[in-house]
Amino acid sequence: MTNRSQNGRSTTLRQLPSIDSLLQTETAKALAAKLGAESLTKLARKVTDGLRREILTGSSPLADSQNGTRASFLHEAERRMAQTFESNLRRGVQRVINATGVVLHTNLGRAPLSDEARRALIEAAGYCSLEYDIGEGVRGRRGARAEELLIELTGADASLIVNNCAAAALLVLTTFAEGGETIVSRGELVEIGGDFRVPDVMAHSGTRMIEVGTTNRTSLSDYREAISQRTRMLMRVHTSNYRIVGFTRTPTRRELAELAHASDLLLYEDAGSGALVDFSAYGIEGEPVIREIINSGVDLVTFSGDKLVGGPQAGLIVGRSELIEQMRKHPLYRALRADKLRLAALEATLETSLRDADVPVREMIGLDEQRLRARAEALIRRLAKGTSADLWALVPGESAVGGGSAPTSALPTVLIAINHPSLSATQVSAMLREQHPPVIVRIIDNQAAIDLRTVSATDEPDLEKALLAIGS
Ligand SMILES: *Cc1c(COP(=O)(O)O)cnc(C)c1O
Repeated sequence: MTNRSQNGRSTTLRQLPSIDSLLQTETAKALAAKLGAESLTKLARKVTDGLRREILTGSSPLADSQNGTRASFLHEAERRMAQTFESNLRRGVQRVINATGVVLHTNLGRAPLSDEARRALIEAAGYCSLEYDIGEGVRGRRGARAEELLIELTGADASLIVNNCAAAALLVLTTFAEGGETIVSRGELVEIGGDFRVPDVMAHSGTRMIEVGTTNRTSLSDYREAISQRTRMLMRVHTSNYRIVGFTRTPTRRELAELAHASDLLLYEDAGSGALVDFSAYGIEGEPVIREIINSGVDLVTFSGDKLVGGPQAGLIVGRSELIEQMRKHPLYRALRADKLRLAALEATLETSLRDADVPVREMIGLDEQRLRARAEALIRRLAKGTSADLWALVPGESAVGGGSAPTSALPTVLIAINHPSLSATQVSAMLREQHPPVIVRIIDNQAAIDLRTVSATDEPDLEKALLAIGS
C-alpha cells in the first residue's frame, strides 16, 4: 500500500459517522420504537463497522474524495440501518402464498392447517385442558383425545404422539432395540428430505443395523437368515421419496409379521407420509394406508402429522397397547412429547378426518384440471382489467404432492405462465417474493408459473394484488 492511499483512507475514515451521531438521525429515532435502545445501538455499530471495513479494503463506493463526504456516509449508514432492519424482519417466519403447486412443500411449512385446526391453535394458546380432566376436576392425560382419534382412524389398539416422525422412529428403536440388532432391507435405507437418514437414526438409538437383501430385491429368507440371539426387531421403511421399479421383490407385511412373531420379535414400519384414507382414488399410487398396515399384523407404525394426514408437524405412533405403554414410560418420551399447540391442531385435524371431511391437503390433491382451469381463467379475466392480457398464458402442467410422498404420481394441472415483456423469469419471481405476503412460484420452461392448486380461496385476492403489481 502506498503512503498516499493510506493517507487517503485515514482521511476518509474520519468522515465516518460516530455511533452517537447515527443514533440521533430520524431513521434511528423511527427504528428505536421497534427495536429498543440496545438492539438499535448494536445495529448502528454493525453498519459503521461494515462501512469502515469497506474503506480499509478499498471496496467502499463512497471512498473517493468526491463521494466520501460526511453527509453521504451518514446517509448511507441510515439507509443500511433501515434495510438491515427490514431484511431481518423478513427472515422470520411469515405467511407466504404457495403458488408452486407442490402441496406438501417442505420449505413452505408442509401441510396448511384447516380452519378448525387454526382455531384450535388459538384457543389452546392460553390456559387449556392439556393435562386436565374437566369432568372429574383432576389431572388428565396429555394427548388423550388425539390418541383416541388415532385409534379410531387406524384401528390400532393404542397410540402415542411426539414432535415429528423422526422422533417417533427414534423412540421406537431406542425403547425396543437399543443394545440389540434391527434387520432392515438394503432397498429401504433411504434419506428423506430434511436429513432423515434411516442408518443414522438407527445408530443414534443404539441398535445395530443388520442390512439384508439388495437394493431392488429382498426375500423373506434374507430376513430369516439374519435373525440371531441379538435380534430385537424387523424394520420396514416406506421409501417415501423414491421408488424402485422393474425387477423388484420384497416380502409382504403379513409374511414379515409371521416371521417376526415366530421368533418373538417385533415388526415395526416407518410409514412416513401416513395416509389415513386411500389416496389411489386421487390418482396417487403407493402410499400405504395405516389401517391396512395395522391389519396385516405390524406391531408398531410411525408416520408424520404434517404430510398426507394434513395436520401440524407431529410424530404419530400406533400399535399394540403394551408396546405403546412401554414407550410412554421411557425417559426419551418425556423429551419428545408434543406440546399443547401441536396437540390442539392435531386433534382438530383428526376430528375433521373422522367426519370424512377434507382437510386442505386432501382438498388440494383432489382438485381436478377442469376446476383449476376455470379458476385460472377467472383470475386472468380479472387481471386483464388492470394489465395487458398477453402477459398471462394458460399452459398445461403438473403439480406434485411433495414432502417426500408419491414421487411418481403427478397431478395434472393448468398453469398461468407469465410472459413479461422486459423482465426475466428470475426477476419476475424475485419481484413476487417482494410482495406482501410474498408469492412463491416455480420457473418452468424459462417462465414464472402460477399453479392455483396450492392457492386457497382466501389467498387468491392477495395473489391477484401481487400479480397486478408486477403487470402494471
Ligand atoms: C418424512 C419421513 C420421515 C420424517 O418425518 P418428519 O415428520 O419430517 O420427522 C421419516 N420416515 C419416513 C419414511 C418419512 O417419509
